[in-house]
Amino acid sequence: PRGPEADLLGGLNPEQRDAVETTDGPVLVLAGAGTGKTRVLTTRLAHILSTGRARPWELLAVTFTNKAAREMRERITAMIGPTAEGLRWLGTFHSVAAQILRRHAELVGLKSNYTILDDDDQERLIKQILEAENIDTKRWTPKALGGLIDHWKNRGWTPDRLPPAESQHFANGRGQALYRMYQDRLRVLNACDFGDLLLHNLTIFQNNPDVLAEYHDRFRYVLVDEYQDTNVAQYLWLRLLAQKRQNVCCVGDDDQSIYGWRGAEVDNILRFERDFPGAKVIRLERNYRSTSHILAAASGLIAANKSRLGKTLWTESEGGEKVIVRGVWDGEAESRLIADEIERARKGSTDKNPRKYRDIAILVRASFQMRAFEERFVLLQIPYTVVGGPRFFERMEIRDAHAYLRLIHSPDDDLAFERIVNTPKRGIGDTTVQKLLHIARVNGVPASTAARELVRTDELAAKTRTALSNFLRDLDRWRAEAARIHHARLMETVLDESGYTDALRLDKTPTAQTRLENLKELVQSMQSFETLENYLEHVSLVMDLDRGAGEDAVQIMTLHSAKGLEFPLVFLPGWEEGVFPSQRSMDEKGEKGLEEERRLAYVGITRAREEARISFAANRQVYGRWTSQLPSRFVDELPLANVEASSETGYYGGGPGMQQHGSRWDESPSFGAGYTSPGWKRAQTSGYRGSHPGRQQVIEGEGRLVAVSESSAASAYKRGDRVFHVKFGYGGVKSVEGNKLTVSFDKAGEKKVIDSFVEKA
Ligand code: ATP
Ligand code: MG
Repeated sequence: PRGPEADLLGGLNPEQRDAVETTDGPVLVLAGAGTGKTRVLTTRLAHILSTGRARPWELLAVTFTNKAAREMRERITAMIGPTAEGLRWLGTFHSVAAQILRRHAELVGLKSNYTILDDDDQERLIKQILEAENIDTKRWTPKALGGLIDHWKNRGWTPDRLPPAESQHFANGRGQALYRMYQDRLRVLNACDFGDLLLHNLTIFQNNPDVLAEYHDRFRYVLVDEYQDTNVAQYLWLRLLAQKRQNVCCVGDDDQSIYGWRGAEVDNILRFERDFPGAKVIRLERNYRSTSHILAAASGLIAANKSRLGKTLWTESEGGEKVIVRGVWDGEAESRLIADEIERARKGSTDKNPRKYRDIAILVRASFQMRAFEERFVLLQIPYTVVGGPRFFERMEIRDAHAYLRLIHSPDDDLAFERIVNTPKRGIGDTTVQKLLHIARVNGVPASTAARELVRTDELAAKTRTALSNFLRDLDRWRAEAARIHHARLMETVLDESGYTDALRLDKTPTAQTRLENLKELVQSMQSFETLENYLEHVSLVMDLDRGAGEDAVQIMTLHSAKGLEFPLVFLPGWEEGVFPSQRSMDEKGEKGLEEERRLAYVGITRAREEARISFAANRQVYGRWTSQLPSRFVDELPLANVEASSETGYYGGGPGMQQHGSRWDESPSFGAGYTSPGWKRAQTSGYRGSHPGRQQVIEGEGRLVAVSESSAASAYKRGDRVFHVKFGYGGVKSVEGNKLTVSFDKAGEKKVIDSFVEKA
């Protein structure tokens, strides 16, 4: 039959179609990157809706990131139109669990206006508990206990269910008692942390069969993307919700399991077949995303992992460019190289169409790698977005502003109280605050209640007392206003009347201006939320603010947040031992950590549709110290047939390699396969080992590096050359005098510079 239904299924291959049309009963789609798992899931949702099997609010669909959830909603809207807006249970595990908890909070001792704490608050709260218990917080840090509690929660363990042995891991067996105190404290504060969202859901379902039955009725179909990354708590949650109807479809790829460190269990894939007997397992083998070299490079790399379920992948998109691998001098050279290539890709060439900025992604292993690119892009005015990076909502001023809102919304929120009672400074010193918190703890009341008591006594100096009672009076007034005015307006009022904005205006530090702008941005972003509560929930959940999303901008993000996404051109910088794989995974005993890093590399390469470019630097500044780096073992593991190696030696010294730079890589004097040969590593390690070269030494090292690539080390500048200088930017050479150049810089004017401090542009 023709019609919209035929269109939905039309483009799918037989296996994909099978996965979409097997609506009833458990289905597990196990398949490699780019085989259309997400596409199957969205089509399945659309199919269920358009055939009238369920209404939008009867579908539960979960993914891992907000970005992925948003994209899924968009794809479905494109398929079936506005009906998709009714999908109110489509979201991340956390956002769906938060909604459920909101409706039954009282069953776990919370009120429905509970606050979700961020890591910062969590740590502060744990610190208070440890101090009250006289535990040495240097030896037993709040961070460590926080990590442990998260780990327990990810495994679905409440304090009561914690296996006794687990308690040994903290403060000589006091782990469990401290965990319990922490949970009690959260309850008093009417708050929970991220792990609680799922854990409280489990408790509610397990203790209240009637509530669970309500959700069994509601959710006719359950769908899960990126299934390989579910942790035990999430798995148990899914199993509880799906166990009655058994209409559950999970899609995943064991080779892309990258959250083991956060408790994800690939075993959940095996458990699925056990817990849902008769599950239909569907494998997809055709990759629709990448060209054959990219796919083969990724497959070759992941083959080095021992613990895999194993699978084959093929593509019809033959040919294309090989994966390019480059060694560069240092982190700065790397960002320069990539920025230049981005500009070149934008222009296009005879054999390549011009690309948009948004077609290009830079995927890093660790966020510290981002800074170099950001700086470079600002300098060259290349528009970029950092996805999930320096989190907007984690900035100090934003947290302060939110603390005001939280305290207005939920008077029991002591952590918010503590954060802002003297921010901006209003003469309520640390001793007063400590005194206050002590009274609150001893009497088991919220800090603001204790404060109200305190201002009625003579405990405080007159000035402090006035300051504190003014603050309390302000809070009361804002609370009254909150009922009358829009929360964006309220936020503005609070920032002004509290003196926060003024304090920033008077602040002469360079960041003050940015912070004011961020606050403006904040008020702006609040406009679109219906209620303050909605907004606060959104903030707790959405950790990635997509500034510039939708604009034409280069996307910078970590490999972890790139999961599920695809881009025509992908840069993969920093493939060095200790960066990627991370030092931590290398220090770990056994192969587990390394295998997870390798899966991350597989995720990285498979994001690319047409071009993937890997790079590594010989030197890197880590925590302000120069260290020499070795190329990542993953570089060696790439199948040679699908890789093109090229060393950017000319990049440092202006050797002949330079001229080819950026045009056709295969012409440049490369190491051939030499980037994996001992020659490369020897040159690096013997030449620069242990030294922490400043700029000067870096330049002196060139001879050796260039020698490896058999090109000339002679300085090759002549009148008329275009050059780039770190400090002065681009310019043209006017004259050459030994190793000194006179350059007319575009912006900085005419300068005399040492030739080794410039490079050809
Ligand atoms: P990942 O493992 O990276 O999450 P995935 O298996 O979810 O990948 P999708 O993102 O669903 O893969 O699909 C990859 C690309 O292939 C998308 O651009 C998608 O539109 C396209 N695609 C999937 N199936 C087909 C098909 N049958 N015909 C044409 N294109 C398809
Ligand atoms: Mg996907």
